[in-house]
Amino acid sequence: MILIFTEIADGAIKKSSLEAIYYGSKVAEMMDTTVTALAIGNADAAELEKAGNFGATNILHANDTKLTSPNSMAYASVLAETVKNTGAKVIITAKSSFADAVIARAAGALKAAVVGNVTELPNMSNGFQVKVSIFTGKAFADVKVNGDVKILAIKKNAVAPIENNNSAAVENISPSLYENLFSAKVTETIKATGMISLPEADLVVSGGRGMKGPENWQPLLDLADALGAATACSKPVSDLDWRPHHEHVGQTGVKVSPNLYIACGISGAIQHLAGVNSSKVLVVINKDPEAPFFKAADYGIVGDVFEILPKLTKAILANK
Ligand SMILES: Cc1cc2nc3c(=O)[nH]c(=O)nc-3n(C[C@H](O)[C@H](O)[C@H](O)COP(=O)(O)OP(=O)(O)OC[C@H]3O[C@@H](n4cnc5c(N)ncnc54)[C@H](O)[C@@H]3O)c2cc1C
Repeated sequence: MILIFTEIADGAIKKSSLEAIYYGSKVAEMMDTTVTALAIGNADAAELEKAGNFGATNILHANDTKLTSPNSMAYASVLAETVKNTGAKVIITAKSSFADAVIARAAGALKAAVVGNVTELPNMSNGFQVKVSIFTGKAFADVKVNGDVKILAIKKNAVAPIENNNSAAVENISPSLYENLFSAKVTETIKATGMISLPEADLVVSGGRGMKGPENWQPLLDLADALGAATACSKPVSDLDWRPHHEHVGQTGVKVSPNLYIACGISGAIQHLAGVNSSKVLVVINKDPEAPFFKAADYGIVGDVFEILPKLTKAILANK
């Protein structure tokens, strides 16, 4: 059996975790086994059942009130205990900073092999080998995973999920929750509201210094609105306080892997590319035909962002 560690947000399984379930279902097909998902924290049963649409046959739900706020120590303990109880040998999660903390701790307890940033389905023709993205996306490495228990953290877009009509059976579990697991506690979480979460976004519209100043952001926001996209920016833009820091993407910021990334007035420095180069389709709008970003782009528009953005928005709205 393949076990998927899922993350919950606002009572539902995160989109990246649904992708991990689908990835797990493909691995399960290769290993002739089934997929069980693990959800920790407060979630609606109807939402959890959706794990079945992505290939899980059942979902184990640990819903103790102590687990309501994410706590990597407690979640790691629940994961490790579930692995022992189910006898799972392959554990899969979507890569995130929280999942990294959880699987590292669980791997310690389980003496498991952990591999992060997995980009493709494993090759099992000679053992168990996975391709991973390294050096912030600038290279790939093939990693042979020899541990008896294997934990894989997959990058977004490793597989393109296809949904089915199955629903997963939800089973409540009551894991051991020792007091020492709660020695560090989240006391308050303040979330930016009303916005599409950048790491999870499918579509991203991003602005650089070519936008000239915070007062000029409206055309970019209009395009993001028309597409239903999240907004992002380059580092200098957030350093200058033109946009909030949580929008900064790149080597030192958020790493995104959307299906579409539209870069507006961004030169394409290597540190910026490091955070966006696993996007499926990169569109670059820049008035300088020599801008380095064009080398990485799938589609390039040479021109002034202030002329092109309103035209793009108009065309998208006209075709909606
Ligand atoms: C250690 C380190 C870490 C870093 N980490 C990051 C990081 O995580 N993320 C990041 O983004 N950067 C990072 N940087 C900075 C990075 O090197 C670049 O300086 C930065 O990405 C440049 O931002 P920019 O493209 O917005 O600005 P610029 O380099 O100034 O480029 C602006 C672009 O806009 C174009 N332009 C101007 N006017 C228009 C117009 N009207 N229409 C269309 N195009 C126009 C120009 O031709 C130009 O290509 C890091 C640097 C270092 C040293």
